[in-house]
Amino acid sequence: MFQLNDKVAIVTGSSRGIGAAIAQTLARQGAKVVINHRNSPAEAESVAMVIQAAGGEALVVQADVSQSNEAQALIKATLDKFGQIDILVNNAGVTRDTMIMTMKEADWDLVLQTNLTSAYHCSKAAIRPMLKKRQGRIINITSVVGLAGQAGQSNYAASKAGLIGLTKSLAREIGSRNITVNAVAPGFIPTAMTETLPKTTLEAVISNTPLGRLGSVEDVAHAVLFLASDEAAFITGQVLSVDGGLVMQ
Ligand code: NAP
Repeated sequence: MFQLNDKVAIVTGSSRGIGAAIAQTLARQGAKVVINHRNSPAEAESVAMVIQAAGGEALVVQADVSQSNEAQALIKATLDKFGQIDILVNNAGVTRDTMIMTMKEADWDLVLQTNLTSAYHCSKAAIRPMLKKRQGRIINITSVVGLAGQAGQSNYAASKAGLIGLTKSLAREIGSRNITVNAVAPGFIPTAMTETLPKTTLEAVISNTPLGRLGSVEDVAHAVLFLASDEAAFITGQVLSVDGGLVMQ
């Protein structure tokens, strides 16, 4: 079950955190994995080394995926090295949290460009080889915040809700070509992104979570693995929450 032998996967923003766990999980199941980062070469190399030490194949590609030309270069580097793309995980993301009255336009733009526009750039470029092969998996990492909203995160919530709209629309566009498009919506996961959240916020999250704990990067990676696998062939346009029941639709 869930074998990815002979598959090639790109995971954007996989130098650490959730992306690194996704890359390592897909590699463990046999995928050749492209590790992407914007500005963390040492961290990206160490993720690749873990994969290679376990007998897997990994390629590190620096690219700011919020920029069209760099996203296209990421796809080209993958095709040059591995000749195909089977799985694209749009994971790269940032936060610039503040109430909207104090939010600078640059912080709105950066979050939308990084979290949402990057998925447009990467999906557009990766779909061409997938269409040729008449198979593919695109998995967008959204957030429960994109479903429920969050005070102080209007830019982030808008980007993540936008990813859900992108997921559903693209799923309708390319389903007939045997390409599935789904989203995974993590709850609160301890990573660099969440390390500055106040302890009281995390305690409140845990007390509102039926499963009574925060998630782990592996919890998210396992959901992505499922959606990337052949076993998920008849699932498209869906949002899979990995949040211990925090937000129920
Ligand atoms: P993280 O530890 O801060 O990692 C973010 C990754 O994205 C890093 O590898 C970073 O690399 C990369 N990145 C950022 N901007 C990029 C760009 N323009 N181009 C290429 N790579 C870029 O965050 P995380 O918690 O693992 O989050 C991963 C994803 O999960 C994000 O989309 C986030 O919104 C989502 N998510 C996280 C949580 C959570 O609680 N942690 C919950 C829900 C959803 P550089 O350092 O090189 O920029």
